[in-house]
Amino acid sequence: MSTDMNNQKELLLEVKNLKVHFDIPSKSLWPWAKPSRLKAVDGIDIQLYQGETLGVVGESGCGKSTFARAIIGLVEATEGQVIWLGDDLTQLSKSARRETRKDMQMIFQDPLASLNPRMSVGDIIAEPLKTFYPELSKDEVKAQVKEMMDKVGLLPNMINRYPHEFSGGQCQRIGIARALILKPKMIICDEPVSALDVSIQAQVVNLLKELQNELGLSLVFIAHDLSVVKHISDRVLVMYLGNEVEMGETASLFSDPKHPYTRALMSAVPIPDPHLERAKKIEMLEGELPSPINPPSGCVFRTRCPLADADCAQTKPKRQGNHVHAVSCLKVQV
Ligand code: SF4
Repeated sequence: MSTDMNNQKELLLEVKNLKVHFDIPSKSLWPWAKPSRLKAVDGIDIQLYQGETLGVVGESGCGKSTFARAIIGLVEATEGQVIWLGDDLTQLSKSARRETRKDMQMIFQDPLASLNPRMSVGDIIAEPLKTFYPELSKDEVKAQVKEMMDKVGLLPNMINRYPHEFSGGQCQRIGIARALILKPKMIICDEPVSALDVSIQAQVVNLLKELQNELGLSLVFIAHDLSVVKHISDRVLVMYLGNEVEMGETASLFSDPKHPYTRALMSAVPIPDPHLERAKKIEMLEGELPSPINPPSGCVFRTRCPLADADCAQTKPKRQGNHVHAVSCLKVQV
C-alpha cells in the first residue's frame, strides 16, 4: 500500500486523468444531427492521504460537484481512473463498488433538502447502517445512532423528531451523523456550509475539523468561499471549466498564487485589516465562464486571461511544478 514517505500517511485515493463528459441531445429536427459533448470534468489528477483535507474551489459551473460525484460513483467517469486503496473503482463490478461506499460518504449542500422529511432523525441516521449491516438488532442500531448524535452535538433524546423541527445548522449535523455512522475513511463535502448563516458555518466547519482529528478522516471539501477553504484545507485544487489550473499546499497557494485565475479569485477574498483591505487591488475577471459544451481551444482560460497571447489559443498548458505547488499555464513558472 502506498504511503507518503515523509510522514508515513496512507494514500487512500488517487484520481488519474478523470474525465466526465455528457452527450446533450441536439435540438435540431434533422434526425442525423449529432449530440453535443459537455465536458464537465476534463482530465483531473489528485492524491488524497489519510487524515488530509483537499479543498476544491472554482466558480459555479466549473465542474467541482461533478468531479466529487464521479469519485464516489454517483456519476459515471468517461475516462480515467479512481484508485481507492489500490483498486480502480471504475473497473469494479456494481456490487464490489457498493462495498467501497462504506468507506466513502458524502455531505450535501442543502441540509434540509437532503433529508427525507417523512423519516425521523433516528431513521435517517440509521439508514446506511441498516443497509450495510442488516444483522444488527434494533437496540444496537439505536445505541449507535444515539452515540453518533451525541458526537455531532445533537441531543440523543431528539431521535424521534423530524427534520423540519431542526435549524439549518442542526440539519447539517444530522447529515454529518448519517455520513459518519458507517465510520468511513473519507467524506466528500459538497458545499456543506454555503446554505448556512455565517455564524453557523463556523460551527459546522469546526465540528468537521474536530471529527477529522478524532477519527482520522480524510475530506474532499468543495466550496466557493475561499476563506473557509483556507481554514480547513491542507492542500487546494483550483478548477476552471473542468480543468485543474493550480494545485498546492494551502500556505503556498494562498501566499503566492501563480495562475491568473487563482490570483483573481484570491484578490477578492476580504482581508481582516481595514487599511490593507482598502489598499488592496482586486484583479477583476472580464466576461462570463464559457460553455463547457464549446470550450476555448488551447488554454480554456484564455478568453478571460489578461496574459493571453496567440500561443494560448494553440497549446493546452500542462501541469508544471511539484506536490507542494503546481500550475497549468504557459506564461508563469512555479
Ligand atoms: S496559458 Fe495563456 S491564457 Fe492560459 S492562463 Fe496562462 S497566460 Fe493565460
